[in-house]
Amino acid sequence: GKGAAMVTAVAYRLATQHAERQRILDTLRLSHEQLLEVKKRMGDEMVRGLSKQHHKQASVRMLPSYVRSTPDGTEHGDFLALDLGGTNFRVLLVRVRSGKRRSVEMHNKIYGIPQETMQGTGEELFDHIVYCIADFLEYMGMKGASLPLGFTFSFPCHQTKLDQGILLKWTKGFRASGCEGEDVVMLLKDAIHRREEFDLDVVAVVNDTVGTMMTCGYEDPRCEVGLIVGTGTNACYMEEMQNVEMVEGDEGRMCVNMEWGAFGDHGELDDVCTEFDRIVDDCSNNPGKQRYEKMISGMYLGEIVRNVLLEFTAKGLLFRGKLSERLKTRGIFETKFLSQIESDRLALRQVRSILQHLGLTSSTCDDSILVKEVCSVVARRAAQLCGAGLAAVVDKIRLNRKLEHLRITVGVDGTLYKLHPHFSGIMKETVRALSPQCEVTFLQSEDGSGKGAALITAVACRIRH
Ligand code: BGC
Ligand code: MG
Repeated sequence: GKGAAMVTAVAYRLATQHAERQRILDTLRLSHEQLLEVKKRMGDEMVRGLSKQHHKQASVRMLPSYVRSTPDGTEHGDFLALDLGGTNFRVLLVRVRSGKRRSVEMHNKIYGIPQETMQGTGEELFDHIVYCIADFLEYMGMKGASLPLGFTFSFPCHQTKLDQGILLKWTKGFRASGCEGEDVVMLLKDAIHRREEFDLDVVAVVNDTVGTMMTCGYEDPRCEVGLIVGTGTNACYMEEMQNVEMVEGDEGRMCVNMEWGAFGDHGELDDVCTEFDRIVDDCSNNPGKQRYEKMISGMYLGEIVRNVLLEFTAKGLLFRGKLSERLKTRGIFETKFLSQIESDRLALRQVRSILQHLGLTSSTCDDSILVKEVCSVVARRAAQLCGAGLAAVVDKIRLNRKLEHLRITVGVDGTLYKLHPHFSGIMKETVRALSPQCEVTFLQSEDGSGKGAALITAVACRIRH
């Protein structure tokens, strides 16, 4: 009768809605073949980035770091380190002890960088950094001390030696004027001179990936890759000097800062990108740049999720079709929410309370299920893409060494990797599936970037003296 017809109509509507949701989510799902293709293209870009001839056209810059070996335990001394470009800006004092009582002791203080300073002038930014160093020295009771300093500066820099780094392009939330094309060591020194309070010997500019690799290398000599999955993403690894065509010499190895976040900037990811990725890119600080990073790292995943939710809502598939002002607000989904929503211990009612906390009050139980599914699909894709890139790196190292089988350790840091309940597992699974001839161990670094800068500074000072 009429009742049955209504039930059928409702069932039909639910089924089409379900199909519609899945159709949209499917655009965010990648097959094994697609991931293999991503790995292959990353490998090709690496080769191009290393070569003198194609370097300029490569999206992956493969920047020489002038770090030629991992630490050997003989490093010694007191060092200052700066860590700029991650979630927090920090100043550190690092005491490195060699010999039988070999150890690294650290003191650090976190400083905020106001949004206006990140996006103001370069002078304001570097004056602020120097102000923080001064405050730190005073806080440590070391006012006036002049220690060697390692500067972890987590942005793409062109280096021709260890203590120089020309900023190629700001990434993530930074865009202070007058810095691109300049040597950040000079910008720092100029600011120190402007303050006329102390002097510092800037010994090394270090990318956070390189610092992380060095820190983990201190524990495990097999660590020859560094990986960051935090606000941004990037990797470095030990490459044969012979292949590093941008630097003279064929002996030994050098750590190469890949700057893999820019993979895709020449269209290499166009066929795996979705409309959501394009919107996130268009609305970012740097449209057209860092396309791979924008599909993987913490600064952008929440925005992808939000845009998928907007689309679902607009199609009447979520939040009863009601678009709230909150949902239209950029940046409401921070990494920590994504991690919380996907936590296995969480009951749906808690997902709902997180959504309420975000101001998305009209949510039903079904809404909570869907939101969780969106978060999970977006994070899975990020972890798989990251794994595909890493698979290319370890396989290149294996082939460099003409090995059938490679055992290697990857030093990792970054909030997304550390906080997200599934990211690291999916990433590892992907590396295993795409590079079965490599046996990869992951070593999480504690305070990797700051400690690593100090270790690199220590090595440089040892050689210099
Ligand atoms: C930067 C890299 C950095 C990475 C992780 C990217 O945006 O370009 O230099 O290593 O973020 O912090
Ligand atoms: Mg960091």
